[in-house]
Amino acid sequence: MSVLVFADSSEGKFKKTALEVVSYGKKVAEQLGTNVVALTINASDSSELYTYGAEKVVSVSNDALKTFNAKQYAAVVTEVAKAQNATVIVVDSSIDGLYVAPIIAVNLDAGCVSNVVDVPSSTSPFTVKRKTFSNKAFSNTIISTEHKVIGVAKNSYGVHENVVAGSTEAFDATVVDSAVKSEKIERITGKVTIADAEIVVSAGRGLKGPENWGMVEELAEVLGAATACSKPVSDLGWRPHSEHVGQTGKPVASNLYIAIGISGAIQHLAGINASKVKVVINTDPEAPFFKAADYGIVGDAFEVVPKLIEKLKAFKAS
Ligand SMILES: Cc1cc2nc3c(=O)[nH]c(=O)nc-3n(C[C@H](O)[C@H](O)[C@H](O)COP(=O)(O)OP(=O)(O)OC[C@H]3O[C@@H](n4cnc5c(N)ncnc54)[C@H](O)[C@@H]3O)c2cc1C
Repeated sequence: MSVLVFADSSEGKFKKTALEVVSYGKKVAEQLGTNVVALTINASDSSELYTYGAEKVVSVSNDALKTFNAKQYAAVVTEVAKAQNATVIVVDSSIDGLYVAPIIAVNLDAGCVSNVVDVPSSTSPFTVKRKTFSNKAFSNTIISTEHKVIGVAKNSYGVHENVVAGSTEAFDATVVDSAVKSEKIERITGKVTIADAEIVVSAGRGLKGPENWGMVEELAEVLGAATACSKPVSDLGWRPHSEHVGQTGKPVASNLYIAIGISGAIQHLAGINASKVKVVINTDPEAPFFKAADYGIVGDAFEVVPKLIEKLKAFKAS
């Protein structure tokens, strides 16, 4: 028996979520009295994972797996899980993770729980705490199958160093056929993506028009943040759909979320509940967003944001 962690990477480099799931897997392995094995696909240097407790890394290198494909990746994870005799399989709960986890579960006839926020409170019965109802509540879920697939919610367990003397072995994985083919992949370079950002600066219809986004981008640049928006803003074509946050958009689990001129409709909040600190700037003191906010500024964005930028620049220069 072992715990297998899929440590996802992008262009060869591990995402922070990969280090988080390895940290998580190490702890679960300790609870079960077993070892943790990390699986990497086309990562350039797997040794970084030893720092977070991966005693063994199974490294798959295959050009046919350069682009994420849920069915193919799930097949690789399944094959490695069987080869390593893993009964607990840990992935992240990113968009890719949410696609891949259920397929692994079907392949292994396993129980599958996503958005898990903590290590098991008990390993017998195997009980995990997860976010539910669009992050509004928690539930404790028992997984009673022999194989268990866990999707760890981003920024929930954290990255914990646990240095071990690990080793890496190459694995020649089978690439299965998939009916889904990628025709075009566009990568945005030089910008922090919403999914990976520690800080997100987001704006809504209160900004009145796309011509006013300069100050949002400037604030994001000063803070090293990603930019995001509400749904109507992307529907109106003021911003690209890739920036739309919420129930029907992207989820955000940043450490800081700044919402400017966004009302705080339930569908928007559903996508940002997992963010740790929420700051709201809105002219309307009755805007629902203030109820969800940790800090609120009642004021006109066109006055508040330039002042904020000025103060932040002065603070950085000091
Ligand atoms: C099925 C469904 C799914 C949906 N999914 C999503 C989703 O995923 N994401 C999402 O965002 N929405 C979603 N929506 C839409 C959602 O219900 C709201 O309509 C939307 O979030 C409102 O966007 P907004 O806050 O930018 O605009 P508005 O509701 O127009 O709010 C603008 C806010 O800006 C403030 N404001 C105005 N002027 C200023 C100023 N000068 N300075 C500061 N503040 C100012 C106003 O007080 C107001 O609070 C969905 C709706 C449905 C029905």
